[in-house]
Amino acid sequence: MSNFSFSVLLICLLCLLLTGIAQEVEDEREFDYIKGSEKGPERWGELKKEWKVCENGKMQSPIDMSNRRVKIIAKMGDIKRKHKPCNATIKNRGHDIMLRWEGNGDAGSIEINGTQYYLQQFHWHAPTEHSINGRRYALELHMVHVDPKTNRTAVIGQLYKFGHPDHFLAKLGKSIRSIVDKEEEINIGRLDPREIKLGGSKIYRYMGSLTVPPCTEGVIWTINKKMGSVSHTQVKLLRDAVHDVSPQEHKIYARGKRKAIATRKMTDMSVSVIQDIKLKT
Ligand SMILES: [Zn+2]
Repeated sequence: MSNFSFSVLLICLLCLLLTGIAQEVEDEREFDYIKGSEKGPERWGELKKEWKVCENGKMQSPIDMSNRRVKIIAKMGDIKRKHKPCNATIKNRGHDIMLRWEGNGDAGSIEINGTQYYLQQFHWHAPTEHSINGRRYALELHMVHVDPKTNRTAVIGQLYKFGHPDHFLAKLGKSIRSIVDKEEEINIGRLDPREIKLGGSKIYRYMGSLTVPPCTEGVIWTINKKMGSVSHTQVKLLRDAVHDVSPQEHKIYARGKRKAIATRKMTDMSVSVIQDIKLKT
């Protein structure tokens, strides 16, 4: 064997080795959304003892909005929104895209029953995690707030139907494209959380849980009854940017242009019909 072919062989071996290492790091993620996988939603409760509640909790999220746990109430008077402009970063967490508001409470708070919950981060699920009369829609934004005194979480959920592009996501398009399949956090400068318009006068309210491990209960959920709209291109970008998709779903996607990622199955199975979302490419 010539020196040249030996070097080529060596480089090939090195590449194989590095691919193997990258694969291992990849597999070390603590949980995934892949149906039937060892770290999939059905197994979350078995993976760690602190995650037990994912399996045996009584107030787990997400649920359907027709569930008896849900109350429809007037937004005015119940929730005081005190968000303000703040520096933010954006990160690809592998299973979703997260926008983190910097500082500790610098992006303001919401007040529910006299308690201040400070804005921490936004992230998106496509399709929606919560459903309305059994139907899941295009996209769901979670605005995560925490009361630093008690560590209790309050999440505002905004659901979107396919239609006109969402103004806030339009601003993030370039940044999201720059972190497709990269798990790094980039600075995106100053943004105003109030650009997410929470129109309408009614909200759905229920007590639930985090929808990812450790599935902690006691989360105050506020879902805006009025839906926003988002374009197919925007949802596709959010889905394509993350890589938490099972090979099976990849296949389905390739065939039928369908892909379902980063959503936890509804835990309260009063609903059995889940709308598949067709994506235009
Ligand atoms: Zn979420």
